[in-house]
Amino acid sequence: SDMEFQVPERPSAQDWSAHYPAYFRAPADQPADLKRPADGEAEAEAEDEGRQAAQAKRGPGAAAAAADAAGTARVEFADIGCGYGGLLVALAPLYPSTLMVGMEIRTKVVNYLQRRIEALRGFQHALLQRQDKGGVEWVDVRAKLSQEIADLAAPRDPSAPELHDNGETERLVPGHYENIAAMRINCQKYLPNFFEKGQLSKIFILFADPHFKRRKHKARIVSTTMLAEYAYILRPGGVLYTITDVKDLYEWNVKHLDAFPLFERIPDAELDSDPAVPCVVNSTEEGKKVARNKGAKYLACYRRIADPAEP
Ligand code: SAM
Repeated sequence: SDMEFQVPERPSAQDWSAHYPAYFRAPADQPADLKRPADGEAEAEAEDEGRQAAQAKRGPGAAAAAADAAGTARVEFADIGCGYGGLLVALAPLYPSTLMVGMEIRTKVVNYLQRRIEALRGFQHALLQRQDKGGVEWVDVRAKLSQEIADLAAPRDPSAPELHDNGETERLVPGHYENIAAMRINCQKYLPNFFEKGQLSKIFILFADPHFKRRKHKARIVSTTMLAEYAYILRPGGVLYTITDVKDLYEWNVKHLDAFPLFERIPDAELDSDPAVPCVVNSTEEGKKVARNKGAKYLACYRRIADPAEP
């Protein structure tokens, strides 16, 4: 029942510090590794791929310092129905100074993702120890921790087989993974309890459950009511990303979004320069499954436009 959900009365009552401990620590208590050279590598990697994530320039150390001990760090990206977290894991090193949260209704899936993130954070620390000793045995450490991550997933979830064969699919990139977190919530009910008006710059709705039957359409995560909530928590200029392999759901999403006054479609050509888009298309567990089955993927991204009624 709803009693199982931990829902703050209002956004200011939400305590994020347990989700992002590195960002809510007094600067003096922050581990020195928050400023280590691997930050530069994450940037280089992002740039190699022609990606210009503006925020990648600052690095998590800077963000943590800026956030300060008063706990002013704010979540900026939300992944609605994040599942096993592939998007967050891919975005974490691309936007190392941005806090992101995955929101998911299934308890087991949230538990899995929380442990996956903890393991990824542990991976960082192991990597560092090796570097301190002047060694370059990164690969060994990666392999060991990848196995740990795989072990964490037990008992095996048959719906997510690709999570367990690491290497190829789990591309671990140097980065701290301190900026991603997962929480259990029913996004259809409680979003405005977690986020202030205009707090978010990106919302992701990736491969949402299609709810094919007409009488189940009200369970869809895109609806006029839900769009009003997304528009409220998204700042003007912010982006709502949707992708699905179900043409009917794509058409439903586009119909509702086109009709909603506070969203405008971003032309495909403009999306080419958005570093988040390749992650949206390729990095979620569901998206990988669709690719394996050679299914089509329909992408529709919308910008939150300013409300003319508001100055
Ligand atoms: N976005 C992930 C991906 O692309 O791999 C997961 C896609 S999966 C098909 C849809 C996810 O949305 C499921 O994990 C489901 O539990 C979650 N979900 C459905 N309704 C939800 C709700 N009201 N609040 C939070 N999560 C929800």
